[in-house]
Amino acid sequence: MAVTASPQDDSPFFSLLPPEIREMIYQDIWATSGSKQHIYKQNMGKDKKWSHVPCSADYTAGDTRFERFTQSARGSEEEYQWVKRLKSEWCYHWCCEQSTSKWHTTQDPKELQKEGVRQAAPSGFMSLLLVCKRMYREALPSLVASTTFIFTDLFEAHEWLSLYGGNPERLPIRSLEICILTTQLMTELYFPTSEEGEGPNPTFGHSNNNDDSHPGISMDSNPWQRVCDQLALLPNLQNLYIWFHTRDLREWHKRMSETRFFARLFNVTVKDRNKFILALPDLPLKPKRGLPSHHFFENETLEGAPFVVERGPRPNNWRVHLMASGLRGP
Ligand SMILES: [Zn+2]
Repeated sequence: MAVTASPQDDSPFFSLLPPEIREMIYQDIWATSGSKQHIYKQNMGKDKKWSHVPCSADYTAGDTRFERFTQSARGSEEEYQWVKRLKSEWCYHWCCEQSTSKWHTTQDPKELQKEGVRQAAPSGFMSLLLVCKRMYREALPSLVASTTFIFTDLFEAHEWLSLYGGNPERLPIRSLEICILTTQLMTELYFPTSEEGEGPNPTFGHSNNNDDSHPGISMDSNPWQRVCDQLALLPNLQNLYIWFHTRDLREWHKRMSETRFFARLFNVTVKDRNKFILALPDLPLKPKRGLPSHHFFENETLEGAPFVVERGPRPNNWRVHLMASGLRGP
């Protein structure tokens, strides 16, 4: 593109305005478009195409999905919507997902308005990037440096980082958020096999029962590990927020070895440790946990960690499952 980009000498924007002023104009446009953007792939017929939507989640309000679900009338449309939001892969960003056409294919926008759900305005930064090749080349590094990119899918995060993460001088990625509702398969990969919880797990799918549904997926080779390794290669990170919950009906503290699952995050560098946050579910007191304490991040297991752990409530999957199946108690 550098070869074929026209210098646009006839354009007053490029010939009269100095680069500093052009940068200020770009910054204004990024701010109006939304400095936090969800990046995701959308089905377009047979293909999947990259898409983006500005983030409208207000996390300071907390994750109220489970509470709102329990308050809705049994069998109502409202209850159905809250179940859908509770199961959303976008987790506490469910309101952002509702801004996408992906959600609207099954949801009437008028219903959303009635409920007072905020919808994000379409973002303007693409129109700027499509003006001409010169503007694209000049504005893209500025956009990458000024935006928080949010991912709710590990495959999409991996693919996007493969596209843009390998050129840190030109495209300095500074701020990322990864919000993942992980599968049972992923957490089981890291679950210790023995009572003591020592030793690596065997490669998943290479066991004696000829189960080759997940060939080659192991603790050292899986979508989460690949994203961690890519994060470790980003030299300009200033903000990194990683939020996890699981789809597993069993409780987090019974099936999750945090110290094994998140071990590779120790290789990631963020300039200020307080701006690298690993947000995990609340833990019960020790006797109720399924694993010995060295599997959980607290006190000595956090020594030397480049991140801060922030704990908070998560929806109770088992109760959601029971209640959504019509077994709701009084
Ligand atoms: Zn969001």
